[in-house]
Amino acid sequence: MNSLEQVMRKPLPVPDADTQAYWEGLRQGKLLLQHCLACGHVQFYQQAICRHCGSERLEHRAASGRGRVHSFSVVHRAPSPAFKGDTPYAVLLVELEEGPRMISSLIDGDPMKVTFDMPVVLVCEPVSEAISLPRFRPAEREQVK
Ligand SMILES: [Zn+2]
Repeated sequence: MNSLEQVMRKPLPVPDADTQAYWEGLRQGKLLLQHCLACGHVQFYQQAICRHCGSERLEHRAASGRGRVHSFSVVHRAPSPAFKGDTPYAVLLVELEEGPRMISSLIDGDPMKVTFDMPVVLVCEPVSEAISLPRFRPAEREQVK
């Protein structure tokens, strides 16, 4: 691969031992959250211990996929040439129904019509054989026409 191809290629996450279950879940269309069996805390992204109480008694459960836009920003200038065809696009801070917040991006909707508190639904978008990325689309399509 030459250097131009490298620039044109979007960086992909690389699963490791800690995050393998998470990526496997996404591949199957599920966003896995860790539920702490000791204190009930729900955390997104995978860690060996609960970030709230330090317990190791964590269990993976699939998120409902429903959430709301807590904050967002519309990107008009691509951060690298690989993203040039995508602008404008909306970067979202989504608050999941279960509580955790995650950074993602809007798919299948007008980025200019994103609003605070807009209901969104998870879409697992396959970007390679091993990797699907969690994105969100508007929950009510009529809102973004
Ligand atoms: Zn805990």
